[in-house]
Amino acid sequence: MRRVLTAATTALTLTTAGTMLAGTPAQAAPTGWGRPVVSAAPQPGAPGLGDSYFPDYGNGGYDVEHYDVRLRYEPATDLLTGTTTILATATEDLSTFNLDFLLDVESVRVNGWAASSTTAGAHELVVTPARTVSRGQQLTIVVRYSGVPSEALVNGYTGWTRTDDGALAVNEPESAWWWFPSNDHPLDKATYDISVSVPTGVEVISNGVQPRPPLAEAGNRTRWIWRTTSPTTTYLAFMAIGQYDIVTDTTPGGQPVINAYSTSLGALGPAARASIERTAEIVDWESGIFGPYPFEAQGGVAGPIDGISFALETQTRPVYGPGFWRRGANTYVVTHELAHQWFGDSVSVADWRNIWLNEGFASYAEWLWSEEQGEGTAQEVFDFTYASYPADDGFWQVLPGDPGAARVFDNAVYDRGAMALHQLRLAVGDDAFFEILPTWTAEHRYGNGTIEQFQALAERVSGLDLDDLFTTWLFTAGRPEVASAARKAAPPTEPRSWAKIRESHELMSH
Ligand SMILES: [Zn+2]
Repeated sequence: MRRVLTAATTALTLTTAGTMLAGTPAQAAPTGWGRPVVSAAPQPGAPGLGDSYFPDYGNGGYDVEHYDVRLRYEPATDLLTGTTTILATATEDLSTFNLDFLLDVESVRVNGWAASSTTAGAHELVVTPARTVSRGQQLTIVVRYSGVPSEALVNGYTGWTRTDDGALAVNEPESAWWWFPSNDHPLDKATYDISVSVPTGVEVISNGVQPRPPLAEAGNRTRWIWRTTSPTTTYLAFMAIGQYDIVTDTTPGGQPVINAYSTSLGALGPAARASIERTAEIVDWESGIFGPYPFEAQGGVAGPIDGISFALETQTRPVYGPGFWRRGANTYVVTHELAHQWFGDSVSVADWRNIWLNEGFASYAEWLWSEEQGEGTAQEVFDFTYASYPADDGFWQVLPGDPGAARVFDNAVYDRGAMALHQLRLAVGDDAFFEILPTWTAEHRYGNGTIEQFQALAERVSGLDLDDLFTTWLFTAGRPEVASAARKAAPPTEPRSWAKIRESHELMSH
């Protein structure tokens, strides 16, 4: 995952209206207390949702319900053309509103009427509808566009990965800008229909299910059609385009499993299959710990040899870079990305500052998997992880609960993040700990969460005041003292799972 630090380079013009965050519980003063109602003129929607790390990501003034993304892609030239239809509801009276997008826009229509549009900031498309929009109004926004995503740069960077045989639209937190216009923040989830026309013989993998087989089109082309019916965050929508072997199955519970393997993997192919083909087994095991699997399909994509170096928990179907298979099968990365389906995908961060709710939990799932596989208990993995970072290591200076925009994917968010969860487990006991996890995923299913809300839940379930524990492990620089490590005179032995866990985290984090 890479980050584009636009906050410092983009002038923000947050209006009064922009302080209202779509999807956030209202903090406004009570109404209806006899104060005169002021009928304000429609205002521009805010160019950002006020995220504490990425304030101009997402936009104010509307809430999206559905994206219909209809594309045509040319692997030979990286030319992407398309039409995205956005179904949304206005949450304010609007004179203009923004979308986050980078490609060249040919036209925009709002509720059938031609709208004007202009670019602003690093990734903003400002839309002025022919008629002002009223709060509560249903909006149908149709954007026609084209461009070469690998050449659409922000601060010299593209989140789009062009490969020898196609492309990957897979990145975090910035990914949507390069292929569909959106309200690009986890606070605004929506459902998706994604269809892509490519030359026949090229495969397209995306989220969810295939409501119909690929459709032959004129000019020796094929249109691939995908649908996701669960609320999905913009960066978790994805496309993998290229030469893939697709393996389909159905779980005993009736869920479709769709896995895809880049044909470029060569000798790494069997290790990729030996890992990703265990998806349904691992989802079943995780469901017993985290609560019911939240989505309508399962799967995984083994990306090409010249694609991404990391892995990403794209919804219903994570995408894995080839590096994870270099030393054989790796079920730890699969366990990590599938745990994100609960922690990150179904329950998403309300603000990117809360990234620990994603990475700490997905990393701790690996420790639980290690225990399940008999390759080292979570306590043994904790002891070894703790001992592997000396007290004066810079690792301990990064706060997992507030790592800063430039360190969202720092190793400390993963390793110290998992250590924090293990300390919570020790403090509250297994009964409470394994009640807290499924309660969290149930109470915030398809929504968002904050670290403060998680702490409050943990305190409610356990009946303990956990403020010292959360402050020490998530928000205080320096290596905390722990009894288990302190009482060991000899260095802990390396758990058998350690090499794979360590290697996976080195590829995931930056
Ligand atoms: Zn992760």
